Amino acid sequence: MRTITLGRFGDFDALSFADRPDPGPAQGEVAVAVKACALNHLDLRVRRGEFPWLALPLVPGTDVAGVVEETGEKVVIYPVLSCGACRHCAEGRENLCREVRILGVHRDGGLSERVSIPRRNAIPVPDTFDLTEWSSVPVTFLTAWHALVGRANLRVGEKILVHSASSGLGVAAVEIASAGGATVIATASSDEKLARLSELGAHHTINYRQTDFAEAVREITKGEGVDVVIDHLGGATLTESISCLTRGGRLVCCGETESPSATIALRPLFNRERTIMGATLGTRKEFLDVLALLGQKTLKPVVDATFPLERAADAHRYLEGRHAFGKVVVTL
Ligand SMILES: [Zn+2]
Repeated sequence: MRTITLGRFGDFDALSFADRPDPGPAQGEVAVAVKACALNHLDLRVRRGEFPWLALPLVPGTDVAGVVEETGEKVVIYPVLSCGACRHCAEGRENLCREVRILGVHRDGGLSERVSIPRRNAIPVPDTFDLTEWSSVPVTFLTAWHALVGRANLRVGEKILVHSASSGLGVAAVEIASAGGATVIATASSDEKLARLSELGAHHTINYRQTDFAEAVREITKGEGVDVVIDHLGGATLTESISCLTRGGRLVCCGETESPSATIALRPLFNRERTIMGATLGTRKEFLDVLALLGQKTLKPVVDATFPLERAADAHRYLEGRHAFGKVVVTL
């Protein structure tokens, strides 16, 4: 089968295209004919070698939509493979499983004609969107839903700040928060991106290249601050974001695209009873919940560009260039 393989960590040329034999599904697994596989920043980090302990060669690709070969069902794949037996799995918190394995990271993923996965991870989807659009859903919508609904408990009428809102995760967060009745403040690097975010439901927008975002947030909220910040950047952005929180506000950290660390002033943290929490992917139940809202078009995927499988390295380059609004998808 036609496959993209990561044989070593490195630049774009570390991804090679090859025909290789298909081992087929193991017991309890199904074979999914992949129709589309969306990229995430996670793919770039895996390729660069930021997780040097991962076993190579690896077929990358976490966000998969395709057709179950046995039944013909159209599915998206819940990318979290869990042990099903540990304390966290028993609580339904598969994303915290001690033996968690992510598709395309810890085992072969979707940049291939076919992928084998446990039957329970193949979730049927309606024809509301095509499979290219569906492939762009799993990591971003699951992470945003888990962060805002599962972790921050975002409520109707609250104010939320979404950073780098034109990213896949940002777009999902803007849509979910807006649909949930929150007032959304979105940041992005260009006025064109901000106009598109307004169309997706952002109520206020900030061009972070031209304006100090923390000052802009204070102005928009009349000095009060926001109830929730979702931040996947880290570094100085996270530090400044904490100062944007109202008393009792919550910051959800779900990435480190800008920097893997941040400095936090403790006094305003405890004096103002602010909360900083982490979020990673999400539970299977949350995945079903967010898929249901996509199925009824309350939420919708945003695809920026598609590349054929043979050009997966170009897709990586395009995503790394940070020009995309929404998702970059490899199609088969
Ligand atoms: Zn487990």
